[in-house]
Amino acid sequence: MFDSRFLGVRARAAGLALASLVAAVATPLHAKGVAITFDDLPVYGRFWTAAEGRQVTDQLLAGLKRNHWKAIGFVNEIQLDAADRPARIALLEAWLDAGMDLGNHTYSHPSLTKTPVETYIADVARDETVTAPLLAARGRRERWFRYPFLETGTTQAVRMRFEGWLGAHGYRVAPVTMENSDWQFATLYDDAVARGDTAGAARIRQEYLVFTRKIVAWYKQVAIGLLGREPSFVFLLHASRLNAASIDALAAIFREAKLRPITLDAAMRDPAYRTADHYVGADGNEWLERWSQTLHKRLPFETMPSVPKAVVTGDARLEAIPDPRAPTGVVPAHP
Ligand SMILES: [Zn+2]
Repeated sequence: MFDSRFLGVRARAAGLALASLVAAVATPLHAKGVAITFDDLPVYGRFWTAAEGRQVTDQLLAGLKRNHWKAIGFVNEIQLDAADRPARIALLEAWLDAGMDLGNHTYSHPSLTKTPVETYIADVARDETVTAPLLAARGRRERWFRYPFLETGTTQAVRMRFEGWLGAHGYRVAPVTMENSDWQFATLYDDAVARGDTAGAARIRQEYLVFTRKIVAWYKQVAIGLLGREPSFVFLLHASRLNAASIDALAAIFREAKLRPITLDAAMRDPAYRTADHYVGADGNEWLERWSQTLHKRLPFETMPSVPKAVVTGDARLEAIPDPRAPTGVVPAHP
């Protein structure tokens, strides 16, 4: 919704031409939208070499630029630890050169539920080794942190210790208020591509987009039920081959849903993100669920669209097979 008072003032003050008026409608002051965030950089998925990573990254970034999205990518620097390290680091530089932001997603993607907090903090600090200097070289700094598995600590003491550390090091937490289980579809897509099964890959991509359309509608409806209005969303995706091949289709879905892609900073200015989150526990909850606990309202999970069973089981089956081309030490990635 646009602010008609704002539009009226602008139009009267300047006697704006129709084109400017249309632009003002398209970009109102307090536009709602969706921030697009990608986890597990430089590349999420299996069966990739630096050359394939370059292909995925170039395709992804070209798609983001074509659709005028200012996205942020969250890095796991463990993925750089391979013989072709400089080529992998160059993928992160490509994100910055394309006008995107980079954030911290820990070095090795540990679970805060299962990892002692001091070990976890050391892992987060280690993720600054390459990313922070890349940003500094461009006069910027690393400002956003995304929790692996969305796990935020099993006790109040752990939460306070870690959030204190984050704050002292200039980080803000990047929440998640929309996601589409892209990582599960991505595994099957990667597998189909690796086997040269073009028709299979196309079918999985189609299923992915059908599911995304449904789940986006669900999140919008549920958020309005919870907050009484539509907030700006923060969408969790992964830097996958599947998403690289799907940016235009995802953009069409967002257009249909009247969700304008905005930056993470802009999304976080929505007052919804000041809702308290007191959740302490083992689960990796998304933020609408956290807020529902604070606001004592339940979310209608029974109406949530399910990922097709064949995708869930196929992903689990493939994840159990070691990836022969993964660099040593790479932890299979998840949300
Ligand atoms: Zn992740």
